[in-house]
Amino acid sequence: MKALIIGSGLIGTTSAYFLARRGWEVTVLERQEGPGLETSFANGSLLTPSMPEPWNAPGTWRVLLRSLGRSGSPLKLRLKALPHLGSWGIGFLRHSSPQRYERNTVKNLRLALHSLEVLAGLRRELGIEYGGAAHGSLRVIRDAAALERALAWGERLRAQGGLDFRRLSADEIVAMEPALAPIAHRLAGGIHYPVDEIGNAYKFCVGLAEHARARGVEFRFGTPVTAIEVGRGNVTAVLSGKSRFTADRYIVAGGSYSPLLVKALGLAVPVRPAKGYSLTFEHPRLEPPFRLPICDDDFHAVVVPLEGMIRVAGTAELAGYDLSLPEARIQNLLTLVRQVLPAAGFERAQAKPWCGLRPMSVDGVPIIGPTPIGNLWLNTGHGHLGWTMAAGSGQLLSDLLTGGSPSVSPEAYALARFAAV
Ligand SMILES: Cc1cc2nc3c(=O)[nH]c(=O)nc-3n(C[C@H](O)[C@H](O)[C@H](O)COP(=O)(O)OP(=O)(O)OC[C@H]3O[C@@H](n4cnc5c(N)ncnc54)[C@H](O)[C@@H]3O)c2cc1C
Repeated sequence: MKALIIGSGLIGTTSAYFLARRGWEVTVLERQEGPGLETSFANGSLLTPSMPEPWNAPGTWRVLLRSLGRSGSPLKLRLKALPHLGSWGIGFLRHSSPQRYERNTVKNLRLALHSLEVLAGLRRELGIEYGGAAHGSLRVIRDAAALERALAWGERLRAQGGLDFRRLSADEIVAMEPALAPIAHRLAGGIHYPVDEIGNAYKFCVGLAEHARARGVEFRFGTPVTAIEVGRGNVTAVLSGKSRFTADRYIVAGGSYSPLLVKALGLAVPVRPAKGYSLTFEHPRLEPPFRLPICDDDFHAVVVPLEGMIRVAGTAELAGYDLSLPEARIQNLLTLVRQVLPAAGFERAQAKPWCGLRPMSVDGVPIIGPTPIGNLWLNTGHGHLGWTMAAGSGQLLSDLLTGGSPSVSPEAYALARFAAV
């Protein structure tokens, strides 16, 4: 069987690899000159089953409304994005009821935990070097009531999805990560999630693409898809300018651009871009070196030690497909990272800023599986968890296409779930 995949980010590349491993003939069309050059490029580098919550938590509408006048808000709505959001915006709020939020969180948790197992298998088999480390992550919390709430919520996730974690006092946090000593007096406590990992998503993507190529996958870089041709309820070809590509199955893994790719086919994919920023510091001054990734609840930011560098990532803006890098957002992240690791002496001049568009599905859960168009499939909408879920999502898609036995329940991630809402 022949598959044609649109997009060579983390999701398209893992899909290609697993399909090739099942003996399929795979071609990947990617507009960039290599794999992983868009949202998968300089993300937070965290593989965190511990953060399975969709971003439309109960009460999100209040956060969004407040954000309209504030540039430092972690979740920000830009007025100019409203026309792009349309019914997605209403759906985003509708999915924020406590019941749906919890159900969707558990779906993400199951896929994330499974994905880390699949990734471990890939590491063993292929030995891809991507700066990975598996010491868990630390979540630090300043407010005592917020800490109790986080622990109670964690117990629910432990019961429903098997999330492992351990409560830590401020002293235990410092024992685990001495770089946090300067802020220990401000902390009510924290949580260690042993399952979490870190790794350079871009390097992984490039490494896995090499292995996929060795298994016969043809990557056509610099190939922007301009149209998808449909006849009698099936895709008949994918076009890039004058070039025409055909296959038995077509898979859209175009990240935030997935809805645009299939819009002309009358297919509404409920995914919109949620812009995020990262800063990378290549030569941080920290003695002893910083070892564990930190999620700071109060600042809604993550600070991650990555191959001798430090990367800070955070914020989500519903701002359409805008890829500008405003200085105010960079300064915002700089202020955050200085408050988490004040001893590191972070300077603006050392910071390498980047932004990307998280493909955010309307319920915060990825969309993996068939569409009403016979041979057209989706693997998209992974939001803030695309690196965490990449290996498991690629494997799930290939299981579904090749008649394998999925290790997670595929209905939870099917596009058809929206028809039932
Ligand atoms: C600031 C930030 C921090 C993040 N931190 C984390 C983290 O710590 N952990 C985590 O798990 N996730 C994180 N994420 C999310 C994660 O990066 C994404 O979910 C993931 O990269 C999505 O992968 P993708 O393959 O779906 O999309 P992409 O990487 O965007 O890939 C889609 C590909 O499709 C191609 N494409 C699109 N349209 C066309 C077309 N017309 N023709 C040809 N090709 C096309 C694009 O060029 C692109 O290469 C973060 C995201 C951001 C922005």
